[in-house]
Amino acid sequence: MVYCDQESYPTSIRRQKKGFGAAVGIHPKKVQFFPQSKFEELGNLLRLNTVVALGEIGLNRCAPESTWKLQEEILIKVLQLSMPIRQVILHMRDAADQHCGEVGARCLQIMRANVAPTQRIHLHCFTGTVEQVVS
Ligand SMILES: [Zn+2]
Repeated sequence: MVYCDQESYPTSIRRQKKGFGAAVGIHPKKVQFFPQSKFEELGNLLRLNTVVALGEIGLNRCAPESTWKLQEEILIKVLQLSMPIRQVILHMRDAADQHCGEVGARCLQIMRANVAPTQRIHLHCFTGTVEQVVS
């Protein structure tokens, strides 16, 4: 289960069947609706032992350009809640006619500056190259 819309954050998350888990985050297309007051709630959910990942979080260039700066600010802020023991589910989507070139490079730059080198990352909505993944 992925909870990345603050309107659907659960009050508790039951243990899942073996091999399954829950993730909580902020979808980049929803950042303009995310109130600052929800960060504490997100942090509390991430501390539940039934939550295995922070996500989805990331950048989406299909959303209106007016939201891109806020997407980056929210991504950087929410990465402060990341923990190497939990995966980050990173959503990176470029404009329709591109393949994670600019957005991939920007995500990589933000990740390098804001998470531990040992952070495990699940790439979601990624259409870039193997070279981008390896770097
Ligand atoms: Zn996604």
